[in-house]
Amino acid sequence: MAQMYDRVALIGLGLIASSMFWAMKRGGLAGEVVGFARSAETRETAREIGLCDQVYDTLSEAVEGADLVVLCVPVGVMGAIASEMAGVLKSGATVTDVGSVKADVIAQVGPHLPKGVHFIPAHPLAGTEHSGPKSGFAELFDNRWCLLVPAEGTDPKATAKLRTLWESMGANVEEMDAEHHDLVVAVTSHAPHLIAYTMVGVADDLRRVTDSEVIKYSAGGFRDFTRIAASDPTMWRDVFLSNKDATLEILGRFTEELFALQRAIRQGDGDHLHAYFTRTRAIRRGIIEAGQDTDAPNFGRAVGKK
Ligand code: NAP
Repeated sequence: MAQMYDRVALIGLGLIASSMFWAMKRGGLAGEVVGFARSAETRETAREIGLCDQVYDTLSEAVEGADLVVLCVPVGVMGAIASEMAGVLKSGATVTDVGSVKADVIAQVGPHLPKGVHFIPAHPLAGTEHSGPKSGFAELFDNRWCLLVPAEGTDPKATAKLRTLWESMGANVEEMDAEHHDLVVAVTSHAPHLIAYTMVGVADDLRRVTDSEVIKYSAGGFRDFTRIAASDPTMWRDVFLSNKDATLEILGRFTEELFALQRAIRQGDGDHLHAYFTRTRAIRRGIIEAGQDTDAPNFGRAVGKK
């Protein structure tokens, strides 16, 4: 595949950055891919496992001369990093990010970037509950969506180039505005994570009463909540703080629906419950038909591997 950028700088070397590195290497998509991470420990691990052609000890060394800079850090620190690197950005470079929230990141990062630099925020809808430099893999973005949020007036050529990079890393790409993005992911990702965190917290309180039963019998759906609730605490703290309005809007609606189901149970209204569950089952079918998940029983987990 054609090389798209001469020098890509990955800032932050966790799950998403390391997956981008391996995906770019798989496709031969960049001349060189360099990196910077905050801690000496992460930089050392990256060097040991061959993550990045060159790992730098400072942000400015990594950013210098890059024609694509990708911010792969928690959303709460993107503004500070943008401010620190602004002076060394190459004219004509593209700055992008992979943050899970867009309006807040744009407000934090945009004002620091000099004229002549393209800013094209992005969000790959792909991840796992693991984090850190060793957690990435080349296939993470295969057949997943990556949402691009270019500001009005962004050079279409720069956007098209970034779109091609994501497509070449295996993703399907869609463009949308920041507010719409933040509402969509509040429904599909942020509120579900908060619900999983809550459910695991409630079960943990119960465990004090029932000993280890919560873990022992966790196959009945609860196990999937524990997987989601194992996600990185810093990343998710920042997501909720920076996507506050959309998350609160969805949680408000969720609470209303929950109360309606609670009332149906109390009143023995089986028709209401049945109609509701029929509607939700159809949604699952739609996800499978769209190729966004497997139809295999129990998500294709091997029998016996609970
Ligand atoms: P991660 O594995 O936890 O890695 C985060 C990286 O950011 C680490 O290299 C860390 O450096 C660095 N970092 C943390 N705080 C920093 C600070 N204050 N200053 C400078 N660097 C800092 O995270 P990730 O899962 O790759 O997530 C990165 C971004 O992608 C986040 O914005 C997240 O919202 C977004 N995202 C995540 C997922 C997902 O499922 N995980 C999916 C889509 C998008 P050290 O290792 O040195 O601490």
